Amino acid sequence: MPALACVDAAATPPPGYAFARHPSSLLAPEAFSGGAPPAANAASPIFDSVSCRWSTELSAELYKIDGWGTPYFSINASGNISVRPHGSETLPHQEIDLMKVVKKASGGKSAGGLGLQLPLIVRFPEVLRNRLHSLQAAFDSAIKSYGYDSHYQGVYPVKCNQDRFLVEDIVEFGSPFSFGLEAGSKPELLLAMNSLTKGSPEALLICNGYKDEEYVSLALTARRLDLKTVIVLEQEEELDTVVEVSRALGIRPVIGLRAKLRTKHSGHFGSTSGEKGKFGLNTMQILSVARKLEKMDMLDCLQLLHFHIGSQIPSTALLADGVGEAAQIYCELSRLGANMQVIDVGGGLGIDYDGSRSGGSDMSVGYSLDEYAAAVVRSIMKACDRKYVRHPVICSESGRALVSHHSILVFEAVSSAPSDYAPHNLELAHLMEELGDECRTHYRNLMAAAVHGDWDTFSASADKLKRQCIEMFKDGSLNLEHLAAVDGVCELVAKSMGVSDPVRTYHINLSVFKSVPDFWAIGQLFPVLPIHHLDRRPAVNGVLSDLTCDSDGKMDTFIGGKSSLPLHEIGGGGGYYLGMFLGGAYQEALGGLHNLFGGPSVVRVSQIDGPHSFAVTRAVPGPSCADVLRAMQHEPELMFEALKRRAEDCAAAGGDALACGLARAFHSMPYLVCAGGEAHVDVADCVLVANSDDDDSAPSRYGSTDGLSSMLSSACSDEEWDLFTA
Ligand SMILES: *Cc1c(COP(=O)(O)O)cnc(C)c1O
Repeated sequence: MPALACVDAAATPPPGYAFARHPSSLLAPEAFSGGAPPAANAASPIFDSVSCRWSTELSAELYKIDGWGTPYFSINASGNISVRPHGSETLPHQEIDLMKVVKKASGGKSAGGLGLQLPLIVRFPEVLRNRLHSLQAAFDSAIKSYGYDSHYQGVYPVKCNQDRFLVEDIVEFGSPFSFGLEAGSKPELLLAMNSLTKGSPEALLICNGYKDEEYVSLALTARRLDLKTVIVLEQEEELDTVVEVSRALGIRPVIGLRAKLRTKHSGHFGSTSGEKGKFGLNTMQILSVARKLEKMDMLDCLQLLHFHIGSQIPSTALLADGVGEAAQIYCELSRLGANMQVIDVGGGLGIDYDGSRSGGSDMSVGYSLDEYAAAVVRSIMKACDRKYVRHPVICSESGRALVSHHSILVFEAVSSAPSDYAPHNLELAHLMEELGDECRTHYRNLMAAAVHGDWDTFSASADKLKRQCIEMFKDGSLNLEHLAAVDGVCELVAKSMGVSDPVRTYHINLSVFKSVPDFWAIGQLFPVLPIHHLDRRPAVNGVLSDLTCDSDGKMDTFIGGKSSLPLHEIGGGGGYYLGMFLGGAYQEALGGLHNLFGGPSVVRVSQIDGPHSFAVTRAVPGPSCADVLRAMQHEPELMFEALKRRAEDCAAAGGDALACGLARAFHSMPYLVCAGGEAHVDVADCVLVANSDDDDSAPSRYGSTDGLSSMLSSACSDEEWDLFTA
């Protein structure tokens, strides 16, 4: 077997990835001295010494980080993902090494870590602030350069991510420019109202979604609380509810209309738009609402026009088309006597998941923040100027674009498939001898093809050999050792040809259903890549298979349309960590409890000036087994009591130890405890359990008076740290 030139290149390059295309300028110049530059075609299975070199630049190119990650993510000299919390204004000493954060979060408490189990969401509030400031700056600058005669005042649609701290951050960071919130349901309205009490008094509170009396009355209460609340009518009938409730409460409403535009966006998210869209009022209904309001002497209440073309709007051409149509409706409402003040262009500001900067799919958009803002301002201005209508305040409900970048989901790959079963040479010869004539012929062909480096003939023969063997196995003439020997030989020979396992399955300590639901549901792709070892050549192409007992629980499509992901060999201890990026919007609330895998642990990480450049300002363990059981109406406290009694009955002496193990199981997260992590039930918890068994009274259902309840609830209570430096 040919010895391979270097360890890192023990396999072919992942097909279709950038090895074939890397610009030669990215390689260290001395690599070329005296030799030809690397071949432009990387199909050759074995590398020469030049292409064995690897660099972080090649990893950046391979995973397209510059495309989707700029200006927040890059690779540092150690080969780890580096987070630039202030975007392009981040100074070198302010960059945060993501691996250091993961080590801090998941390391044992005795070693100064926080003892959190993976998977882990790492939130960067400064990235969020940078996104918010960039959005505001984009509109401010478009407004200035066009001489637009009003201002931009956005709202954050909380449905994108209702996390309390994220919403509070947005309200705080946006307070200087009166950034507000948008709600689409009663609980969202409640949280938005509460958050905005700490915000700018001018911030808007936009109430979308279908409404009943209760919703409307809550929205009117918000007005009474001096929050700048606008009730947006999604349907004509909602007007009657609004008028009735506002009369009953004696609170005059500010009303907006959601227009159903004819302009239609054809991507996945476009089903909300167009004449047959799910939401909004058509022209007849808009006119009817205006007439009704006029009759009731309430036209002054109608102040806002809203529309939402759909998420991830692909191009500024489509955007300008939709905004132009809406601006005409705005002008018409003005002409009909409404007291129009605000045009709310909805959400849909897209982000570039695959780094391709094209508007050809839902994965990418062909414009920047600045171009988006310019298109909106220009279209509104054009329509209003033609009709001599005063320029309205421009509001947008950009969700995805604001929060996608701020968090990273970190998870471990725990094993990859190849087995280390290797039959002994003698044994192998013996087993092959027993296969029968037909199989031996395939075997000989296969070996001959290998000697000539003829991969196609090799794989065809291997295929025939394996098929013949499985038939013989099924009728009982071969045993398991024969099958294993054949598989082993094929793999070994393939490896010696430099073409091992075209695609290998990596098991990941994650639930796709919980943490990447849009991948499962609508095929949304997110950048996924190792967050360390990026200074090493990835030697394997992998697909990711999750923990759930479900064939859908896998990731086998990746950005750029690839069906596998270049990965490194797992091994050498310490764990192999992958990150999913740009998942800050929608994924957390959409995720389900399939197989009862709950949410990840969460840390909030701020940039600080100091040797380690970051501080963990908040750390919350993910839901425990007890928590996810509770979500399905099980009662962990009672379950534990019953199991503990059983343990005592069954093992009088060892009962306490069994009970302690049971307590630990309820206490811990449903995910695997892997290399980097540790199970973190303190000995004190077990003592608590052991001591509480003399309490014969029925445990209270909700109370935390007995030791068990408090033990179980302490596992899910938020643990907060006031600035934990690395
Ligand atoms: C979902 C939604 C948004 C947010 O859309 P993004 O594409 O995330 O910006 C805004 N407004 C309405 C009415 C929505 O339904």
